[in-house]
Amino acid sequence: MSERDVDTGASAGPTKPGRDQLERAVQHDFHVRVLAASTSELVREACRRHELTGAAAIALGRALTASCLMATLTKDRRERLRIEIQGDGALGSILIDAHGDGRARGCLSKRASLPTPLPAARWRGDGPASISHVVGRVGKVVVTRDVGLEQQYQGVVALRSGEVDEDLEQYLTTSEQLPSALGCEVALDNLGRVQRAGGVLCQTFPGGDAAEVERLRESLRGGALRQLLSLHERTTSELIGYALAGQEHESMGASALRFQCNCGRDTARSVISTLGADDIDALAEEAGRTEVRCSFCGQAYELTAAELHALASELRERRS
Ligand SMILES: [Zn+2]
Repeated sequence: MSERDVDTGASAGPTKPGRDQLERAVQHDFHVRVLAASTSELVREACRRHELTGAAAIALGRALTASCLMATLTKDRRERLRIEIQGDGALGSILIDAHGDGRARGCLSKRASLPTPLPAARWRGDGPASISHVVGRVGKVVVTRDVGLEQQYQGVVALRSGEVDEDLEQYLTTSEQLPSALGCEVALDNLGRVQRAGGVLCQTFPGGDAAEVERLRESLRGGALRQLLSLHERTTSELIGYALAGQEHESMGASALRFQCNCGRDTARSVISTLGADDIDALAEEAGRTEVRCSFCGQAYELTAAELHALASELRERRS
């Protein structure tokens, strides 16, 4: 194993299809860095947990894929990126939380009030699927980066396209001033369920060729990514080859990606704690037991009446 492989924590090789991973590469002639993410399993898992199909699945899947590509600013595994896309469409806000170690989770803030059946995506000929009718075209994109102890950056841009990847690309280019081309896509089966997902991010280094990024952006908008993913599972190497139209590049290694939430019983207890001791006791008396469901992953945690009373006592002790 080369030093570079060790450096990126690579456990997954760059050429295995069907395994979620992130691969980094450099195109030396144009000073362009390319990141590719294969996220089929991650996006399937997220949409299975949130019971999403159609346009909603594409929206969450594109945002999750983009977050994996974007949580790579520092190469620090402790890096954390949060994305909130607040559109005026039926989906409400899309919330994503991704980490530099490859974990990502996400949800829709208005999942409970979505129409049934869930809206389908619209197809623009051979181009990418269109989802702006459910994301909205008015609103904002908020990106928060934690890049180490007490170092937090937040940027906000207006929502423009409602296609998620185009809006995040605009965020990177204007707010972070990194000329970027970002394309993320989710292929669905004929019932609207997630089949495969993946994405590519190309950025120039300082002194790089911004016109080259412009050309890459045009090719990402062409719909080839959707066609690639609709046929069969793609390796990240194939995605990089597609983004660079076959230009020579050097792979800098790959690392694994996965859907993972960091909730647990303690999270459920702290959510209930916000009610205050008296209301927790009342809840235990009235409902007996209560269920707290994590909005990011859908996992339910049940607290019994005894646990609720114990929590209330604990809160009173802490206060006195
Ligand atoms: Zn969770």
